[in-house]
Amino acid sequence: MTDQDTQNAVDQFLSEAPLKGFIGGKWVPAESGETFTTSDPGSGQKLADVTAMADADIDKAVAAADSAFKHSGWAEMPANERGVLLHRLADAVEKHRPILARLESLDAGKVLSQATGDIQNFVDTMRYFVEMSQHIQRRTPLAVAGYDARTVRMPWGPCGFIFPWNFPFLLLGWNIAPALAAGNTIVVKPAEDTPLSTLYFAKIAKDVGIPDGVINVVTGYGKTAGAALSSHPGLQRMSFTGSPEVGRMVAEVCGRNLTPVKLELGGKGAAVLFDDVDIEDTAEKLVGAITFHTGQVCCDATRWLIHKPIYDRFVDACKSRLEQVQIGYQLENGTQMGPVVNAKQRERVLGYLEKGQNEGAELVLPGGAAEVSGRDGYYVKPALLAGSLDNVAAREEIFGPVAYLAPFDDEQQAINMVNSSDYGLANSVWTSDLDRANRVAERMIAGNSWINAHNVFAQGVPYAGINKSGIGGGVLSVETYLDYTRSLSVVRPL
Ligand code: NAD
Repeated sequence: MTDQDTQNAVDQFLSEAPLKGFIGGKWVPAESGETFTTSDPGSGQKLADVTAMADADIDKAVAAADSAFKHSGWAEMPANERGVLLHRLADAVEKHRPILARLESLDAGKVLSQATGDIQNFVDTMRYFVEMSQHIQRRTPLAVAGYDARTVRMPWGPCGFIFPWNFPFLLLGWNIAPALAAGNTIVVKPAEDTPLSTLYFAKIAKDVGIPDGVINVVTGYGKTAGAALSSHPGLQRMSFTGSPEVGRMVAEVCGRNLTPVKLELGGKGAAVLFDDVDIEDTAEKLVGAITFHTGQVCCDATRWLIHKPIYDRFVDACKSRLEQVQIGYQLENGTQMGPVVNAKQRERVLGYLEKGQNEGAELVLPGGAAEVSGRDGYYVKPALLAGSLDNVAAREEIFGPVAYLAPFDDEQQAINMVNSSDYGLANSVWTSDLDRANRVAERMIAGNSWINAHNVFAQGVPYAGINKSGIGGGVLSVETYLDYTRSLSVVRPL
């Protein structure tokens, strides 16, 4: 497929706007007739109007998912037959990767190569869970005297999913793949900033023959569509990825319905660097991490805790690299860092630089708004702040290319500093002493500890947050698949 073919396919898809939701295998507009606009963060230009769904539309989507669960045969299908369909789905997504990547790049402001990686990650995740579903034992005999007893793993039913805008397609894969492979049906609400790749995915699902109602996509604002979905009593499971503030609201309404809920929330991860690291190599990697998707990454290393003997040299190495980062339009060759997702997010990033300074942080690299010639997008420069970890910019999630620096004297102090956060998503430790690396890794309080690397995701390694970063066991592992089955005990007294 040439670049022109890809662009033509994207244009063709967008020409169908206002884009509709996907319910019960059909493209449907919101009952209210209302729409919202999704725009290109790199140019500020409108991409498409999209239907803005609310309560009545969500009711229809959950009813469609419920009906498909009960009547389409999806839930009862042997895992290998369902696996054939889901493998076809993964293959079709892979075939459409250039189109999906371009849509994702346009909609989320993501550098094209990174968007392409996200689409492939979806494919790999789907294949991982589909393969797993063939091998997980469904019936487990129990050796209990006096009884013929077993447990049986069953799918739950209709499951709801709400996603943020930073990794729309990758997170779709991480979350829906285990649910579908286990035989559940789904209703997905993408973020209002980034609905396009998920809608295109629904098209692909229809084309490969996933039964109607198994996959439903509802589009709209969080306060309407999101609130209606998360509080719907017809769901058997709810999964939310996004901010802790909204996550708390979702958990509350799910609690009222007694719907089991999984929350994947924000973070304020630390990177701990000891004085035996290769300074240039580590600087390169952490600069790569903080500029990756313009710092809009939940598990990013945003607090860099640096052993005093190397503090000055390390900061200089990072500063010079960050000054050279190529900021540009996300589809342009050579761009290393694209825009942030919208004007509000740019204000948020710039606002934290100001608030941080007002509370006494030193501005090591000033950051600020960036101009990209010919593009009226939402660009910011990378920034470095330094000072006390009590500072607002060291405590709260900024979600931009901003790292907060602080020196430490010894291992214990570094661990205390890492663990001073309310969040608990991911931290990393950097040292050539593997004993120390393992010791520190196990004492940092979070769902994930990485050694000599940051932002590490592998299918098969659980990825989850604790404390303010989430509850419910996380994603990407055998446990995630099992979580999308309910356990039924079957017993006969002998
Ligand atoms: P957000 O919480 O504002 O929105 C997330 C989703 O929730 C969107 O689809 C939105 O429409 C919906 N929503 C908003 N209000 C709602 C309501 N009242 N009821 C139900 N749904 C509602 O988050 P965001 O700004 O889109 O994303 C950024 C956040 O996501 C950051 O905190 C980031 O760390 C987090 N995140 C976490 C992970 C993870 O795996 N832990 C991954 C990516 C992003």
